[in-house]
Amino acid sequence: MTVMFNRVTIIGVGLIGGSIARAMKKHQLCNDIVGYARRENEVKKAVALGVIDRYESSVAEAVNGADLVIVAVPMGAFESMFRQMIGAISPDTVITDVGSAKSSVVNAAKNVFGVLPPGLVPAHPIAGTEKSGVEASFDSLFENRCTIVTPTAVSSESAISVVSNFWRAIGAEVVSMTPEHHDLVLAATSHLPHVLAFSLVDTLSHMQEHSEIFRFAAGGFRDFTRIASSDPTMWRDICLNNKDAILTSLKKYEDQLKKLEEAIANQDGVTIEKIFNNAKNARDTHVIGG
Ligand code: NAP
Repeated sequence: MTVMFNRVTIIGVGLIGGSIARAMKKHQLCNDIVGYARRENEVKKAVALGVIDRYESSVAEAVNGADLVIVAVPMGAFESMFRQMIGAISPDTVITDVGSAKSSVVNAAKNVFGVLPPGLVPAHPIAGTEKSGVEASFDSLFENRCTIVTPTAVSSESAISVVSNFWRAIGAEVVSMTPEHHDLVLAATSHLPHVLAFSLVDTLSHMQEHSEIFRFAAGGFRDFTRIASSDPTMWRDICLNNKDAILTSLKKYEDQLKKLEEAIANQDGVTIEKIFNNAKNARDTHVIGG
């Protein structure tokens, strides 16, 4: 792979930011990878692990002279990160991010910059684990995974190609959609399941017999609840930043659950089996690989 960038800045060198940096190094895409995080220890660790080349202790210094800036902090910190870039970022710099909700990134940029920069192309890699921090990062995280690129109405064609080609260069398949459409789709496929998993485990933990419940938890329980071990702060921020779409999905789910509840209460085996059959067929058809 040929070098695509002289300098790339990663704001937030955790699981996702760290994995991007490692993948860029693996594919030799960049001469100089600069990192920033709130805690100096975290970026020092990232340098010691060879994930980034160096770090700066302010966002402004970190983005200075960068060809590409990638924001990879929890969603609640986006607006503050954009604010700290004012005056330090060149109009030619391409800015992207990895946030799990997209309309709120566009709104944060509008609030801070007034008008959206043509160099801003939000994106969301559909890849991750329930672990956090730079130690959990690895260079193949995005290989054969999808990244959704969500250009704004004013993103420039050249910035869209830079961001799309960058993701392809680290192994991802790139799909494009509007930020609003992304938020609806992801609310249903990712945000709702996380809310349900957190809520189920929370409910069980309040039951009197909870130690017995967890002791006898079998494979199905593990499969269903693995994602409840994800980072609570990150998921709080996702709920706060994709409120409307998550509430829409949650309402649809509550209505369906109510139907199932009624069928169980009425000993209505036909309806129960119909719902389970539909779910099994949908999963067997659409979810490939277990
Ligand atoms: P992470 O491992 O916890 O890393 C977050 C990074 O941001 C750390 O370097 C952290 O270091 C820094 N940070 C945290 N709060 C900050 C603040 N207020 N100001 C500045 N820096 C801050 O998180 P992650 O899993 O990589 O997630 C990062 C982003 O990726 C999130 O927006 C998330 O929605 C998105 N995402 C995550 C996944 C996933 O599965 N994990 C998948 C796709 C997208 P300090 O604490 O020292 O500042």
